[in-house]
Amino acid sequence: MSYKSPVPYEAARIRAAAVYCSDGRVGEHFDDFLQNGLKLPRYDRVALPGGPGCLAGHTEARLEEEGVIDELKFLVDAHGLTKVVLIQHEACAFYAHRLKVGADRMATLQRADLVRAAFQIRRVSSEVEIQAYFARNIAGSIEFEGVGID
Ligand SMILES: [Zn+2]
Repeated sequence: MSYKSPVPYEAARIRAAAVYCSDGRVGEHFDDFLQNGLKLPRYDRVALPGGPGCLAGHTEARLEEEGVIDELKFLVDAHGLTKVVLIQHEACAFYAHRLKVGADRMATLQRADLVRAAFQIRRVSSEVEIQAYFARNIAGSIEFEGVGID
C-alpha cells in the first residue's frame, strides 16, 4: 500500500510546540485550535496521555516527565523553540486512571498542574513563551479557554 498526501510540504519551522494529551477523540480539535485559533501552522506535537499532567511532578508519571523534559530540551536546541502551548482537557483518562483523581476535583488539579508544568518548562528554557488552555466539552463541542499561569 502506498499513499500520497495531498497536503503540501512546507520546510520552514514556526518554533512553537504544543504539549497535550494523546486522546484521539480530541486530536483534531487540538489541531484546529492551534492551527486556526492560535495561527500556529506546523507546530511541533508533544502528545502523550495526560499531556501537561506529565510535567507537574506526579510520582506516578516520573518516567514520562523525564521523557517530556528531554524532548522539550531537544526542541529548544534543534528546532529553536520559542513558544510552548499547554492544553489540558476535561475528563482526561490519565487523571482518572493513572492519578486516580475523582471527577469532582479533576479540573482544579489539571489547572494547578498547568502552573506546575509551566514552571518545569521555564527550567528548561527561561526564554520560551508559555500559554495554557483548558479544553471543555460543552454540548458536544470542544471549547478552549485560557488559563493564567503566572
Ligand atoms: Zn487525556
